[in-house]
Amino acid sequence: MSLIVEKYGGTSVGTVERINAVADKVAAARARGDDMVVVVSAMSGETNRLLALADEINANAPARELDVLLSTGEQVTIALLSMAMLRRGLDARSYTGGQVRIRTDSVHGRARILAIDDVRVRHDLARGRVVVVAGFQGVDDDQNITTLGRGGSDTTAVAMAAALKADECRIYTDVDGVYTADPRVVPEARRLNRITAEEMLELASLGAKVLQTRSVEFAGKYRVPLRVLSSFESGPGTLITCEDPDMEQPLISGIAFNRDEAKLTIRGVPDQPGVAYQILGPISDAHVNVDIILQNVGADGTTDLTFTVHRNDYQKCLGLLEQTASDLGAREVIGDDNIAKISVVGVGMRSHAGIATKMFQSLAEEGINIQMISTSEIKISVVVEDKYMELAVRTLHKAFDLETAPAA
Ligand code: ASP
Ligand code: MG
Repeated sequence: MSLIVEKYGGTSVGTVERINAVADKVAAARARGDDMVVVVSAMSGETNRLLALADEINANAPARELDVLLSTGEQVTIALLSMAMLRRGLDARSYTGGQVRIRTDSVHGRARILAIDDVRVRHDLARGRVVVVAGFQGVDDDQNITTLGRGGSDTTAVAMAAALKADECRIYTDVDGVYTADPRVVPEARRLNRITAEEMLELASLGAKVLQTRSVEFAGKYRVPLRVLSSFESGPGTLITCEDPDMEQPLISGIAFNRDEAKLTIRGVPDQPGVAYQILGPISDAHVNVDIILQNVGADGTTDLTFTVHRNDYQKCLGLLEQTASDLGAREVIGDDNIAKISVVGVGMRSHAGIATKMFQSLAEEGINIQMISTSEIKISVVVEDKYMELAVRTLHKAFDLETAPAA
């Protein structure tokens, strides 16, 4: 007998039929003898609908009231799902985040879970009840309702699984797992049977948004076995694990890409202490996140510095940089927002040489110019002209043989 935490996202509970289907699934799991905790999101579209309502009433509504409002979406689905289970003869009980006592900090709209009181849940489980928990919410120490940020039900589920030391946390969603690349760009992309939490984080932060990033961090930290699977078709999904030293690692697990960035270069700045700070200080003061940063080796007493930011911040940063350039007496500022970033990710990089070479060679053979390169321990990213993005992703997918499953 196992203890399983399951989470169903908005599309999985988006209609009465789907809520009934979830109840059937949970009933089947109970019949196999598993103890079940079920975390649900709001019905699909509901959180957006509530946000739009708030916006009509008060475009500057305080975050505290927004949280009171948004938390109701999940309260609807826990009640409906419990009713569906009760109708099937299952004993079920629903709880809001505050009722379980999912204790968070007070940062409304993106609160962090601090602790979970498992007494009530364990009490119910011991009586054979299915416990249904509202995702995405908690309470702070003053009993204010908080929410965890968009997609936060994933994090609720993983945190519940960690608190209960569950055998597995299963996230049911509208895709059947994590893929080697986005199948819309690479039709040959393959579902991964497993991936490490570390790789998943790299892929997630790069735009492959299957799970809320924080939920993956949580799973890695508390070693929660986490599985992503489809609520519409059967299949094993993808298991997100902690790195298993015995596990034969594929070199590369996946490729991520995005068109969300723009690059800026300031040329001919005096090569002296404090310059990087003077250039990037105003950017961070403007609350702009910088991704890749490159500084050239100085020559003739000057150097060039290039960095990337989100495309939405491009114009603002150009203006700031022009100002800095004139303050510092730099030669010129140039920028480009027709770029794309492509990254290959894999823990296998740690123990294998030659991955970067292979990546650069494959892109060269297609005549794709690399504008910037940045690496971390398990990731290599390149910036290319955005019209080459899809070609580059397909080329790399093939070069690293990702369409072929590794031998078992
Ligand atoms: N209902 C929330 C959202 O739409 C939380 C979630 O679905 O995970 O973001
Ligand atoms: Mg989601």
